[in-house]
Amino acid sequence: MSYKNLYKIFGVLWRVVPNAIYGNDIFGPYCPNCKTDLKYHSLNEAKCDHCEKAFKLPHSQGVTKKQAYRRYQASVRSGYPVVSLDTPPTKVKAYSEDKNYFIRAHMTQKDGRRIAVVYVGEKSKKQSKKDYSHIFIDLDQQQIRYDTTNKMPDEFLTALVCEFKNNTTSTRFKKSSKDKRK
Ligand SMILES: [Zn+2]
Repeated sequence: MSYKNLYKIFGVLWRVVPNAIYGNDIFGPYCPNCKTDLKYHSLNEAKCDHCEKAFKLPHSQGVTKKQAYRRYQASVRSGYPVVSLDTPPTKVKAYSEDKNYFIRAHMTQKDGRRIAVVYVGEKSKKQSKKDYSHIFIDLDQQQIRYDTTNKMPDEFLTALVCEFKNNTTSTRFKKSSKDKRK
């Protein structure tokens, strides 16, 4: 973010400039039309001398400024990835197979959410992405998703049932046309 940016917060403009001691200083509010400094003429109203327009602000000058700065900081942080340290590190991993099929599962996290990743599919000599499904079970959003670049689960499973703490998500697949052809 450039310190030449003006940020519109609460309908008026603000500027944030780096400060060697405190990190940042926030200046404003400025008129959103002509960028003139607004002057508070009552507790929560500021006026532009140039446009003669008045702007309602949520609080008194000092509090509004602090809130505007907090909004600015939140917007700076909005793109940061979230890594959850609340979730204890886990070594849950499972693998099972027989002559024809295999299933592998492990726990991971994405954007701070706990995700169980399951691979299930058919063994083949030239193993490819289309031999198995790649299923994501989002424990925090209580959702099941699939990687569509892999085999779709409805091509070889009849149902997927996931029992979450607060709800049960179950997907019963229709018999696919591929099965009928066999
Ligand atoms: Zn103005």
